[in-house]
Amino acid sequence: MSTDIFSLIEAARQGNWLPLMEESKKAPGKHWAESARCGNQDINIFVPLADGPREDPELVKTKLGISLNRPLNLCASCPLAVAARCLVESLKDDDEYGIRGGLLASERSELRLAWQDRDIEKAVEGALRGCTATLTKPARDTVIARFATDSSLDAAAVARGLGVTHDYLLKLARRYRKSQAGRGTPSVHVVPDAA
Ligand code: SF4
Repeated sequence: MSTDIFSLIEAARQGNWLPLMEESKKAPGKHWAESARCGNQDINIFVPLADGPREDPELVKTKLGISLNRPLNLCASCPLAVAARCLVESLKDDDEYGIRGGLLASERSELRLAWQDRDIEKAVEGALRGCTATLTKPARDTVIARFATDSSLDAAAVARGLGVTHDYLLKLARRYRKSQAGRGTPSVHVVPDAA
């Protein structure tokens, strides 16, 4: 079965980002767009006004009709690695608008959210293992929630990953469990309070 950009996108939608990432690496460096099919084209055709992150893709396609054929055909004939890199770069930059990798902005919204979740999950896993990195608030909150409800996690590693003291981590975990108990969610008290 031949691979095209849509099979890579479909795998990513199912949670398997590896094929898309591996393909995008085949167009490395700063000059990856040199063989892009959109080079020397009118860039405006890739940014249709009716398309946007909060639009319904089917309505957008109906509204824009055949005017989408040209940009989408160019994307479809773009070298696979370039199209993959184009899409990955748009996800990294969180580009909300414009056609990238053969996807309308409206079609890319779901994938952008999945990409952000993937980033959060990677950061969370790292912090739980004690890797120090700057965490976004959602990632930090997830680390605290996971620690507060999973007795198998190493408190010293998690404290290191969050950049807090052991005692402060326990305090955060207590606060989290208290907030969850107030919501009627089963509270799993699994973390010892004493150091
Ligand atoms: S996939 Fe990206 S680089 Fe290729 S033609 Fe489409 S917009 Fe241009």
